[in-house]
Amino acid sequence: MLSITTDYAKDTGDPSPYLRHIAEAGFSHIHWCHQWNTDFLYSKSEIEQIQKWLAEYGLRLLDLHGSAGNEKDWASSQEYQRLAGVELVRNRVEMTACLSADVVIMHVPADPESAAVRRSLDELEPICRERSVRIAIENGNFEAIRRLLSERDPQCVGLCYDSGHGNAASGGLDHLESLKDRLISVHLHDNDGTGDQHNPLFSGTVDWGRLARIMAESAYTKVVSMEVTMGLSGIQDEREFLDKAFETGTIFSRMIAECKRV
Ligand SMILES: [Zn+2]
Repeated sequence: MLSITTDYAKDTGDPSPYLRHIAEAGFSHIHWCHQWNTDFLYSKSEIEQIQKWLAEYGLRLLDLHGSAGNEKDWASSQEYQRLAGVELVRNRVEMTACLSADVVIMHVPADPESAAVRRSLDELEPICRERSVRIAIENGNFEAIRRLLSERDPQCVGLCYDSGHGNAASGGLDHLESLKDRLISVHLHDNDGTGDQHNPLFSGTVDWGRLARIMAESAYTKVVSMEVTMGLSGIQDEREFLDKAFETGTIFSRMIAECKRV
């Protein structure tokens, strides 16, 4: 059982060819990452079509990358924009529930005192409870996230650890270690420490051994989920890329299982 992001090649347009290729490469789950940074609102007909594709290809939705939007921005200080942003996140919460999953991942601004995000979370909490979907805040600024998590019910808000963001900043794994009880989603990928490259696991400088140990002790109980993309991977062939992701994801899954046995 293994999960990969739907946007490994492209993050807008018809997702169906990529879903088919993901299934053919042997993955059981997907991290929905199409439209992750747009103002796109999914319609009922589109969500139903995605549901049909998942059934046809034998895939399951693990979690979904919500959108912090461009003009519909849940963290905006302009109230009309913030409300539109809440509508956008609400759309993704509904979509996630319709597709039988339970986590929507969101980015927050670096400002640890973002009052707008707090207000937006207050407004989203009822729908999250009603639909049994939690919001996972993805690591950018850990100081901001730590404060936000401390104020929020773990039944509604948790942490998404992005190993690439963590490796490009300092002390990512130390922060994760101290927040591992709140971990509900992972975006696994590698880089050389100089930026967010979304490369296959074990191709860069992420300390995968330590990450496996922390994940084994964390609240996260789902499958290994990779947010790897072809862009800077040096692999041009789609099938070769998916095979590489599958192979490295399988190795990392075994590393976590091994840590749990010890
Ligand atoms: Zn990510």
